[in-house]
Amino acid sequence: MTVRFAEAAAAAPVSHCVTASRLEAFCRDVPLDRPTLVLDIDRVEEQFRALRAGLGDAHVHYAVKANPHEAVIARLVALGSRFDCASRGEIALCLGQGARPADISYGNTIKRAADIAWAFAEGIRLFAADADEELGKIAAHAPGADVYIRILVENSEADWPLSRKFGCDARTALRLLDLARNLGLNPRGLSFHVGSQTRRAQMWAPVLDQVAQVWHAARARGHDLDLLDIGGGFPAFYGQEIDAPEAYAAAVRAEVDARFGPVPYLMAEPGRGLVAEAGMIVAEVVLVARKSERDMHRWVYLSIGRFSGLAETEGEAIRYQFLTDRDGDPAGPCILAGPSCDSADVLYEKRPVNLPWSLGAGDRVLIRNTGAYTSTYSSVGFNGFPPLDVIAI
Ligand SMILES: *Cc1c(COP(=O)(O)O)cnc(C)c1O
Repeated sequence: MTVRFAEAAAAAPVSHCVTASRLEAFCRDVPLDRPTLVLDIDRVEEQFRALRAGLGDAHVHYAVKANPHEAVIARLVALGSRFDCASRGEIALCLGQGARPADISYGNTIKRAADIAWAFAEGIRLFAADADEELGKIAAHAPGADVYIRILVENSEADWPLSRKFGCDARTALRLLDLARNLGLNPRGLSFHVGSQTRRAQMWAPVLDQVAQVWHAARARGHDLDLLDIGGGFPAFYGQEIDAPEAYAAAVRAEVDARFGPVPYLMAEPGRGLVAEAGMIVAEVVLVARKSERDMHRWVYLSIGRFSGLAETEGEAIRYQFLTDRDGDPAGPCILAGPSCDSADVLYEKRPVNLPWSLGAGDRVLIRNTGAYTSTYSSVGFNGFPPLDVIAI
């Protein structure tokens, strides 16, 4: 156990520590009464510029669900980002911040008919689908719209795979392209998601191979596809080594070009990779306890848990890094849990977390790189604990 923690610490690239410092300095001092996510909007801009530089002429459609804070959306609008939205609420948010309808894709494959009609009336023209019935809804409520078909990909090596729920197989995709055309829609291309937190660019290769097969089969069948949506998957630093964002994006772009050639409308939908490292959660220790005298592990209970923002600790899939004012004191393993009265509210137990022995109730705990999938996963107040507060600096 200790060896692994030492390795994780050694793997931390220096650049991440340096760029986190403004945010970290703020988080160490700001007086806060409840768990709060602090966002450094300049870091979002830095990540956007890096990803865009690596992706070349591909269009970045920010996956809004990763963090829909208005300051994030506003900055991305100012930078010329486009947006991928999953719901009426997300579309309204982006339009409200000044995004143009032409720059918004409605990428959720599961949409209410009324929401399709509303989006179409607002000027949204690009919709995703992976089923016959969905194409029927789009044809009825967004006649003539552009559509792309989401492919189900296998063998994702991501830390947080999105497989199974979305997409259809190759044969179905080809049939849906035909159906879209027959319904008077404009079938423009394909989309997929490699899986969230795909740590290395080379992990994209087998997935791109699968999608390229469908792409070339569709073209051979007479579909003049001009849109490829490569989805998200761009990683954030959680302690395991990742490539720097520009290099990662450039490597993915090269893998795409090698298989698809020039694509008139290439789009990428980073969520986590744009916002995770721009956020830090400020929380505190509520209790340190041992269950018995022989208990090997301390239990450390935080003021934030599975239901108040740390949902991605499910299955211990995403392993956040913690900072305290007592770092440097002798440390040892602990089981880390949230404050609510639900036994599922345990963050890390199979692989305990190393924290200082001197840690006690009231001590501040900072959770690094938590700008993605935290505030949006926070319950409205399970057990009376307030939802994760968010402030932008
Ligand atoms: C969630 C989602 C994304 C963003 O994924 P990340 O791994 O956070 O980059 C992109 N596209 C679609 C369709 C999504 O549902």
